[in-house]
Amino acid sequence: MRLLGKTIFITAAGQGIGRASAEACIREGARVIATDRDAALLAGLDADCHALDVMDADASAALAAKLPDLDGLFNCAGFVANGTILDLTEKEWDFSFDLNVKAMMRTCRVFVPGMLRQAEKTGTASVLNMASMASSIKGFVNRTTYGASKAAVIGLTKGIAADFVKTGLRCNAICPGTVDTPSLRGRIAAAADPVQAEKDFIARQPMGRLAVTDDITPMVVFLLADESRFVTGQACLVDGGVTI
Ligand code: NAD
Repeated sequence: MRLLGKTIFITAAGQGIGRASAEACIREGARVIATDRDAALLAGLDADCHALDVMDADASAALAAKLPDLDGLFNCAGFVANGTILDLTEKEWDFSFDLNVKAMMRTCRVFVPGMLRQAEKTGTASVLNMASMASSIKGFVNRTTYGASKAAVIGLTKGIAADFVKTGLRCNAICPGTVDTPSLRGRIAAAADPVQAEKDFIARQPMGRLAVTDDITPMVVFLLADESRFVTGQACLVDGGVTI
């Protein structure tokens, strides 16, 4: 029970890495506040479930006002834009930055004051931000907008970590490799040749397979738990060896 007694808020907990993380945190004894734009996807989670579109700043603030101070915040929501710099539109660029970076910044601003109170009381609190191996860590074809936005997540993370390093509040980013989730399946299905697309996603993983969500959740739990108390400001890779 590595998260016993902790209250942990998770965005995009309806499916994929967010849901698996919510389940892992529940297994480790946390009280999980699970949120997703699509509330129906939260069914079956043994958590305090709320509909939340992270793009809606007022809704985030209203929800935060009703909740206790958090021990942990996992900002998981994000969108994968496809294409080179020659394909992208400014509208798509803005959408990716609004969701992947600005909404994350706002969620942090809403919850960090309470987390600082919690850190003062307990000595520790942890913000975890979803970045990606496909960002400043490594470039990938057709991931210019995505990589730029996830690199910004790493910058946001390091800024928060540096500003509050003396308080007990830590902030890290997690950088997964290619994970088999509903949205990855959607990207495969949307490709001109889905069979080849799946082969290509697998080929960029040196272990010869996609990650499953529970390849990623142990790092999520570690970074939210007190055992990572000396880790802050890091972009933590769980990438199956891509960046060897
Ligand atoms: P997914 O895309 O399959 O599911 C995303 C969930 O986010 C859905 O439940 C959806 O309803 C919710 N969501 C979408 N927009 C939202 C919003 N505005 N507000 C609240 N919820 C919203 O999940 P995934 O593939 O596990 O991706 C989750 C995160 O992990 C993303 O930030 C993604 O960039 C990142 N990531 C994914 C991979 C991968 O290969 N799957 C790799 C590295 C990083």
